Amino acid sequence: MARKPLMAGNWKMNKLPSEAADFFPEFLELSKWQKEQVDVVFAVPATHLDRLLDIGEESGISFAPQNVHWESAGAFTGEISIPMIQDLGLNYALVGHSERRQYFAETDETVANKVGTLLSAKMTPIICVGETQVERESDKTVEVITRQIKSFASKLTGGDFVVAYEPVWAIGTGLTASQEQAQDVHALIRRLLKEEIGEQADTVRILYGGSAKPANISGLLAQDDIDGALVGGASLKPADFAAMVQAA
Ligand code: PEP
Repeated sequence: MARKPLMAGNWKMNKLPSEAADFFPEFLELSKWQKEQVDVVFAVPATHLDRLLDIGEESGISFAPQNVHWESAGAFTGEISIPMIQDLGLNYALVGHSERRQYFAETDETVANKVGTLLSAKMTPIICVGETQVERESDKTVEVITRQIKSFASKLTGGDFVVAYEPVWAIGTGLTASQEQAQDVHALIRRLLKEEIGEQADTVRILYGGSAKPANISGLLAQDDIDGALVGGASLKPADFAAMVQAA
């Protein structure tokens, strides 16, 4: 099944709002991006989203928040809601990133709430899953990924969503999962999704994330179940991310 590749950048807590727009002319020039062939999304700090709307409209790049709350409004200081994001005309949102799980007490349950609310709002969640180094070394990868996928499975009642497999030990460490390690987990995720949503699982894009860079992206993208990448560090440099989008 041919799935349109999706290349997503995750800027994390980097760049100032006033610097953000400078990235895109160089990225667009170097990547010679063909939007009919590859989707491109940047998950940026919430402070940048409003400023990047014109660039999104002119270029076709999608911008996304790196987190959302599942309630539509209320006493949740510091949070942003899905209606706020929709009011900006945005379509994607990152949820369940391992840094949110590790540093901000995000749980399988809160990730599932976010997935459910985003899908009800007809938005596209990019849902991150992945095992830690200790879990991989103790042969718990299958168990952890299965638990994480099943935790939001009941929310998958229609609509588009993306899964990002991000082994925690590979994020920002320079260690990348081998092509085989990544493909094995991507195939597992697709099998698990098939148990939940049937043949629609063949249309779901599953991204790899974890020290992806120009030097290793082609081998990863050549795998049957790897449909793109979620890229942290290398998405901060126009030339690096442009080369990766070209590879897709
Ligand atoms: C990420 O932040 O999702 C990520 C994969 O980071 P990096 O590419 O820097 O490992």
